Amino acid sequence: MSGLMDLHNHTVRCLHATGTMEAYVERARALGISDFGFSDHSHWMLNATHERYAMLAEELDAYVADVQQLQARYHCDGPHPFRILLGMEMDFIPARLAVARATQERYPWDYLIGSVHHIGFEKLQQPELYTQWSGDDVCELYFHQLGLMIRERFADIVGHLDLPKKMGFRPQRGLLSYIEPLIPDLLAAGMAVEINTSGLDNPAQEFMPGWDTLAALAESGVPLTLGSDAHAPHQVGRHFALALSGLRRIGVRTLVRFERRQQITGEVAALQAITSN
Ligand SMILES: [Zn+2]
Ligand SMILES: [Zn+2]
Repeated sequence: MSGLMDLHNHTVRCLHATGTMEAYVERARALGISDFGFSDHSHWMLNATHERYAMLAEELDAYVADVQQLQARYHCDGPHPFRILLGMEMDFIPARLAVARATQERYPWDYLIGSVHHIGFEKLQQPELYTQWSGDDVCELYFHQLGLMIRERFADIVGHLDLPKKMGFRPQRGLLSYIEPLIPDLLAAGMAVEINTSGLDNPAQEFMPGWDTLAALAESGVPLTLGSDAHAPHQVGRHFALALSGLRRIGVRTLVRFERRQQITGEVAALQAITSN
């Protein structure tokens, strides 16, 4: 069965993921995923003095070469195609736009995920942020920066669109009220939004974004795609059966995949619900 994609997968190079790249690929093949993309963290991510969550700039060539070797080894056309895609989860940090743009130009990417992980030096995934500051203020600044990213047409896919909820925080006025104003910008930029299934395994306990947002995006014609945000091989394709049944329930008929930064639309109806996991 072709057409199912998992475009959000990390590697050990980010220092907070485990497993060989081959193990991720083998898991994807076993699940019947036809488009498997590596999208490790970009090297210009902000790091605390004694921490690092992304590859070094000097590792980038080797990362790309590793993906290309796996592409050569596993690529398969025909009735049951299997494609390995070269991607990257690129941090949108306004002050570091130049290095991001240079990196986007330098390699034959199949797609890029644009993510905001920090506002200023604060990590959005640290729970204290939402008690130390007003969580609504955090949302306001986060979605402002996300809007800048979208209007910049920074990447092909928006990563974990409603990240502030990941650790359990919910803004009083609801997340959708921050996201709705961004829909015209998403459409103008032609950017897709990923259904990041990792949210279900975090305090958020739902996909990022959630079903109300996904329904609003779909109704407006924003393209959707799928990513597990796997940091270990067994997380590849996590909760995809649930994602597919949910998409059918809210009436989403298409998902997009990417090749050489071209968006390709496929029918959800043609996708087989993969082994529940
Ligand atoms: Zn991320
Ligand atoms: Zn990620």
